[in-house]
Amino acid sequence: MRFTYTLPSRKALPAYKAGGFISARHTDGSRCPSRKVGRGRRPSSNWECVFVDDLGAPAQLCQMCETQEIRYVHHMQHAGFPTILEVGCICAGHMEGDYLRAKTREDRLKKAASRRKRWPFLKAWTTSQNGNPMIRKYGYRVTIFKGGSLWSGVIVDENNKKLFAKKSYQTELAAKLAAFNGIMWLQNKPR
Ligand SMILES: [Zn+2]
Repeated sequence: MRFTYTLPSRKALPAYKAGGFISARHTDGSRCPSRKVGRGRRPSSNWECVFVDDLGAPAQLCQMCETQEIRYVHHMQHAGFPTILEVGCICAGHMEGDYLRAKTREDRLKKAASRRKRWPFLKAWTTSQNGNPMIRKYGYRVTIFKGGSLWSGVIVDENNKKLFAKKSYQTELAAKLAAFNGIMWLQNKPR
């Protein structure tokens, strides 16, 4: 299952600077086998990450080096380049000139992935007055309920604002995982 973050801040991208293009070498100095890199007229700096997501398993090639299979995808945007490139952590760090920032993003996703795995089985799940599975966590109250043969859920925040699941799910487990994704979205949506 795929879940995503949108980064909260999105400052204006710096204007494209002519002259600098991505080198055909990786940060470790090894030569990049991709023909596109270095000849594809890709800016070498000033890329910005606009989005990261977790594919659940290594499932696609990094679009920059085209050698690394990636699970955590950094979506990189540049004012002087027409498309967003989906790349791995090392390439992202290279493109934005700040490896630590890319690594921090990736670590956050990894942490969320392991939290997500544990989430349906947390001891904090209780039963609501109506007999539905319920949990209070991360500042939200989540209730999972059955409508007909399918499962759904609602996330309630501190201001009593409700976010209902947009879809119904075959299993209670799937509905719980969807609620976790909902919370991640609430915590990371642009403000
Ligand atoms: Zn790469």
